[in-house]
Order: sequence, then structure tokens, then C-alpha cells
Amino acid sequence: MIAPSLTPPPDDVKSVRKIFLCPVCKIRHELFIPPKFANNRSRFPFTYSFIHSFQNATNIEDTDKDILTTLYIDAQLNIRGVEAILTGEDTNIINRETSQTIIAKLTQVIMDMQEEYAALLKKFRDLKLKME
Ligand SMILES: [Zn+2]
Repeated sequence: MIAPSLTPPPDDVKSVRKIFLCPVCKIRHELFIPPKFANNRSRFPFTYSFIHSFQNATNIEDTDKDILTTLYIDAQLNIRGVEAILTGEDTNIINRETSQTIIAKLTQVIMDMQEEYAALLKKFRDLKLKME
């Protein structure tokens, strides 16, 4: 059984499909990597780290947990090794969805503050004009 792909379906046909057995989920994950992924690496195998969510969790507490995954990939794009660590509350790593949510919220706060600043500046200038 192969789990749903960890990467979105590629928009180019050249992307290389890779499958690895996840030691935490105990299932085979699929992902796509660019064909020139091994280019300009200083040594081989090189590491590729990412986070994926725990699939197939038997313990309900684990269903939303993230797995820090490191793949060891050689020059021919073969996966030579897999390391997977279930992240707990003590890890300071956040997944892409969470970071995007945080960035979106902060961007909104900044935009609100800029609007408020512009409004205050206008009020200030109006008052200054009245004073003169
Ligand atoms: Zn997994």
C-alpha cells in the first residue's frame, strides 16, 4: 500500500517519483523530487529533510503529530536511507501549514497597523493645519 503523495502532483513530467518506507508510519510514502535535485551537492548521499504528518497512527494522541523526516539521497537520486523522528511538544519545529498560518496572521496585523498609522497621521496633519 502506498499512502497519498507527500508532495503535490508535479506540474512537469520530468519530476522523479520516489517511494520510501517510513519507519514511524510503517507505510510507504510517495513524493516527487526535481530531476536535478542532486546537482551542486557538496557530498553524497546528501540529506533532504522535511516534515510530514503521522499517518496510520494507532494511538489517537499521535494522529496529529508531525514526523521530522530525513532522506539520504545519492547522486542517482536513489534513497539510501531514511530517518524519521516523531516530534513532540519539546521540539521547536513547526510544519509548513502552521508557519503559513502564523505568517498570514502577522501580515494581517502589519497591514492593520499600517492603516491605523496612516489614519493617525492624517488626523495629526489635520490638527496641525488647524493650529497654524
Ligand atoms: Zn510517515
